[in-house]
Amino acid sequence: MSLQQTLDQIARQMAALPDKGTVASYIPELANVDPEHFAISVALPDGQILSAGDAETRFSIQSVSKVFSLALALGRLGDQLWQRVGREPSGLPFNSILQLEHEQGIPRNPFINAGALAVTDAILEGHQPREVLGELLRFIQSAAEDSDIRINEHVARSETAHGDRNLALAHFMAAHGNLRNAPALTCGTYFHQCALEMTTRQLALAGRFLVGGPNLPTLPRLISASSVRRINALMLTCGHYDGSGDFAYRVGLPGKSGVGGGILVIAPGRASIAVWSPGLNAQGNSQLGTLAVERLAQKTGWSIFG
Ligand code: GLU
Repeated sequence: MSLQQTLDQIARQMAALPDKGTVASYIPELANVDPEHFAISVALPDGQILSAGDAETRFSIQSVSKVFSLALALGRLGDQLWQRVGREPSGLPFNSILQLEHEQGIPRNPFINAGALAVTDAILEGHQPREVLGELLRFIQSAAEDSDIRINEHVARSETAHGDRNLALAHFMAAHGNLRNAPALTCGTYFHQCALEMTTRQLALAGRFLVGGPNLPTLPRLISASSVRRINALMLTCGHYDGSGDFAYRVGLPGKSGVGGGILVIAPGRASIAVWSPGLNAQGNSQLGTLAVERLAQKTGWSIFG
């Protein structure tokens, strides 16, 4: 079976499943998204991009954006970033404040909300939110080689109006001296970053800079090879919050999810994969998105574990 046939088959199988998970509702704009959407795209190093389902419909990438902000932060701050955020899985929900108190305002990793706020705060220092968001957008647009990617202001405003929990995390870090900007400024920038929207086709293309591999000159080189390896390691261990172990077990590839129902998955040296199904599981990760990439990994044999 060709890769295109495999993707078509997965899309048909997902459409037939009655339980599609629950669409996130704590950001009101996301609650309006039709849970029946499904899309999957695979970008290959030879330049091919294959898709099935609604691969031309834009969705809110939410926490998938944390991969791109981390890439910018590592480029700008290097290892200094690790003074402000850890590199261990949290085993707790994405928006938990518990661990932050135990660990004196240093978030466990850059992918839980507190950690992503610290990363955004770090790249914001000395800059205006507009500049930082512009830089992030340009990074993603050049990674995807597509300028038609944007921030959805309605989604950003919707999250700002219901952002108490993230503000609480930011204030808590400020109390521990681990925030350089006003909590509202850091959170506002973070909410806009999360409100980036694109199609699975664009996201799969944007993820190619993480595919790595020495013999793949067609892939965009936006960060160092060691940063590629490190970001992939963090995606594998921390990319799905308290569902990260389960995702690694089932899929065997690094991935980063978002509450908009998107997941960016990297098959190192082989492919960048984006999947979107808005219904989430109990850990806030796309329920059918996870199942779809699990099936794709089974069919292709792609795994970092041999
Ligand atoms: N903007 C969301 C939040 O901070 C992102 C969470 C996610 O996508 O997992 O709650």
